[in-house]
Amino acid sequence: MQPSENSHRRIGENWHRVVQQVEQACRRVGRLSSEVLIVGVCKYVGPELAAQLVQTGCRNLGENRPQSLWEKVEYFASQTQDVLGQVAWHQIGHLQRNKIRRTLPHLSYLHSLDSLRLAEALSCEAGAISKQLPVLVEVNVSRDASKSGVAASEIDELILAVASLPSLRLSGLMAMSSLGGSADTVRAEFAQVREMRDRLERQYAGRISLPELSLGMSGDFELAIAEGATMVRIGSSLWEGVITHD
Ligand SMILES: *Cc1c(COP(=O)(O)O)cnc(C)c1O
Repeated sequence: MQPSENSHRRIGENWHRVVQQVEQACRRVGRLSSEVLIVGVCKYVGPELAAQLVQTGCRNLGENRPQSLWEKVEYFASQTQDVLGQVAWHQIGHLQRNKIRRTLPHLSYLHSLDSLRLAEALSCEAGAISKQLPVLVEVNVSRDASKSGVAASEIDELILAVASLPSLRLSGLMAMSSLGGSADTVRAEFAQVREMRDRLERQYAGRISLPELSLGMSGDFELAIAEGATMVRIGSSLWEGVITHD
């Protein structure tokens, strides 16, 4: 669908439905909806449709590929609507080191920190522009061999190293569930991340704190909220009726 009044209306309906579903999921488990940030994932659409999502109320946008983030940042800067300047950008997919310099100035959060080399390069660049970048370490908890993220056995070492870097603010953990996993499997994977967070905070008390858990996408954010997610990354639900998935 081309950007139009029609797409704007559909995106608005989708956004309000997702907000309600997040509120309901919070209520069911006795949490406040203010504890859960919805990151609208825009990787399926171009800048004009992403701008319509912002106008409808979503102020946190996530991108998988840095190039798509740059493209939208540039488009938003060329527009006159003030709300487009209020967007907080979240890089949720792998960030290659050669893309750091161009991406970093725009970022509010990196969800996908997955190596010490990346962490060191990021801290160095962030220091050079006097920025403190909030980062989440991506943990691989799924049985899906293709998934990115750090193995559970390597998490302590990376967490402690990141905590000592001057220009990164270690804020929590991120994970993706197994593709096509049953509800039980997915919930167990999210629980594993929460337990890992609780264990790390206990073991390294006073040295680290990991308040944020970025868990859950369109298909499993309710389970993620039940397991303590503070950020959900919602893509396809927001673009229903606007784009076609194959
Ligand atoms: C695409 C993507 C999402 C959103 O997934 P949907 O199923 O479309 O909601 C969330 N997180 C990451 C890392 C993604 O790449």
